[in-house]
Amino acid sequence: MKDIQSLESWSVVKNGGPIAIAGPCSAESEEQLMDTCRQITEEIGITLLRAGIWKPRTRPGSFEGIGEEGLKWFANVKKELNMPITTEVANAQHVELALKYGVDVLWIGARSTVNPFTIQEIADALKGVKDVPVMIKNPINPDVALWKGAIERIYGAGVRQIAGIHRGFSSFEKTQYRNVPMWKLAIALKTELPNLPLICDPSHIGGTRDLIYPVSQKAIDLDFDGLMIETHRDPDNAWSDASQQVTPKRLAEILNEVNIKKSTTDAEEVNSKLDTLRGKIDRLDNELLEVLSQRMNVVGEIGDYKRENNLTVFQAGRWIDIFQNRPEQAAKLGLSKAFMEQLFKLVHDESIRLQTAVVNTEKA
Ligand code: PEP
Ligand code: MN
Repeated sequence: MKDIQSLESWSVVKNGGPIAIAGPCSAESEEQLMDTCRQITEEIGITLLRAGIWKPRTRPGSFEGIGEEGLKWFANVKKELNMPITTEVANAQHVELALKYGVDVLWIGARSTVNPFTIQEIADALKGVKDVPVMIKNPINPDVALWKGAIERIYGAGVRQIAGIHRGFSSFEKTQYRNVPMWKLAIALKTELPNLPLICDPSHIGGTRDLIYPVSQKAIDLDFDGLMIETHRDPDNAWSDASQQVTPKRLAEILNEVNIKKSTTDAEEVNSKLDTLRGKIDRLDNELLEVLSQRMNVVGEIGDYKRENNLTVFQAGRWIDIFQNRPEQAAKLGLSKAFMEQLFKLVHDESIRLQTAVVNTEKA
């Protein structure tokens, strides 16, 4: 899937760089949707406005989304604010309606990603639809293959503007998160599909307002390509996910506070300073290798000597001495003791291997 397109090349992403998606969990009324989206676009430049039109709720009786009527409101928002819009689709009819009302980007929710029948239905509805980007949330259970499978099905329908959305995973155990991030699963997906853009949804990971900033920062540190943050003009009175939505003002603060890190830069000064520092690392690594090689040569000499004098390769006293002293010396130099213990364990294993080989060879 090497031809999955980067976010910068998506038709709806004009300003490049890490993208920000914001908007309410759900569209509730035309006024709530318009007012929230207007405040967001006035507060801060974001890339894409979100709103849930059909809401997958855990139990019946909760607000299940406004339905088709909300798409008309959202289409007005798009026109009035001149902003692209995105919503969740969970079946073929949703796809058809969303496209009919001009939704620019579709997303597939976590409860859909778990079900290959649902994903295939959506994929079939997308066949022959040109240029609509699709963002695929991780399944609610921690299963990278299921996430990848959904991406493959959508790809199979001819979609090339695809992104993953990391929204955390359900767990039986209570944690500080609503959905545990398990970052390594997102990283595993990225490792398998290196050019798949990844967006983080700190609202659904955190579940509370105060976790949105730290989770966003963590995602950016891990080189995610964008953030999707639920934003409501009056979060406390939201009809769904009230505890995890922020005001447009707070959204602006979060996006300004998040220290956006890029994996590369075009700035010449920055690159030349980095080159200098990397040059230093290269030289020091060379010295390290040089020293290690000398050390192992001495190990070999000791091996010869032990063989001539009929001594054992492993001499516990000596090793305990090294194992205690080296990390202590290292700590004085500002190095972590745990790291040094591991390193010397490796060095010691290799020394034993070498000496054993030497001791067991007849002198030529
Ligand atoms: C949402 O984004 O509002 C939503 C329902 O998300 P998820 O599928 O991650 O639960
Ligand atoms: Mn929500």
